[in-house]
Amino acid sequence: MNIAPLNTWITKNNEPLLIAGPCGAETREQVLETAKQISEIPGIQLFRSGIWKPRTRPNSFEGVGEQGLSWLKEVKEKYNLKTTVEVANAHHAELALKHGVDVLWIGARTTVNPFSVQEIADAIKGVDIPVMIKNPIHVDLQLWIGAIERINNGGINKIAAVHRGFHPASGGSKYRNKPMWEIAIELKTLLPDLPIICDPSHISGKLDLIQQVAQKALNLGMNGLMIESHINPEKALSDAEQQLTPADLKDLLSKLTFPKTISTD
Ligand code: PEP
Ligand code: MN
Repeated sequence: MNIAPLNTWITKNNEPLLIAGPCGAETREQVLETAKQISEIPGIQLFRSGIWKPRTRPNSFEGVGEQGLSWLKEVKEKYNLKTTVEVANAHHAELALKHGVDVLWIGARTTVNPFSVQEIADAIKGVDIPVMIKNPIHVDLQLWIGAIERINNGGINKIAAVHRGFHPASGGSKYRNKPMWEIAIELKTLLPDLPIICDPSHISGKLDLIQQVAQKALNLGMNGLMIESHINPEKALSDAEQQLTPADLKDLLSKLTFPKTISTD
């Protein structure tokens, strides 16, 4: 598999890719204010936000849809952050491209479905856009690799995997999604060139585990972190319990020990 290093599409040198932003876009003000505060945190290169939210049960907040893409465009223009959004089908991917989103991501509930992944791969064929692929909800390394291959076969080589943990099918867990680090390590062993970003927010599900999960990911040599941040987490319409304010995110990042990077300047 031909995979481009992160520093050919977003980072400089070997620094970790830091991604932050709300679980979901709710209002223009919430998106822009969160982005403003995040843009003031050194080291964050990519602003995330869900626009179409895959919810387990109906009648919960399913995202603001296409209008959110124009808010992300404003984020890019005003705050010098690149943007990333979750796409679950070809239509989402086409709209994201039309609105100038910089990076697409495929969520855990989409990675499980080869039809959806293939349809996204077909929609972006011939476009030079990076794609991040979250692990499927349940432990199935082959399914994760299969999604990566489908996107790669579509001509995309700017690819990163996102490790967001696995649903604790039985036995309960202190984590919302069990990290099962060995699965991410196995992926790295099989695809050594593939960057892996850790998503401590969806692994933890609550604030007090995020720092230790993020540190563990860095210690394992993962290539970046995706962390949810909202200006008013208590009022968030999705994942309220795991979102940090930008101020708390800054504090958390300052407490992490980052691996030394090798400068090639
Ligand atoms: C998200 O990133 O907000 C999300 C829905 O994550 P996942 O696909 O990992 O559940
Ligand atoms: Mn979320």
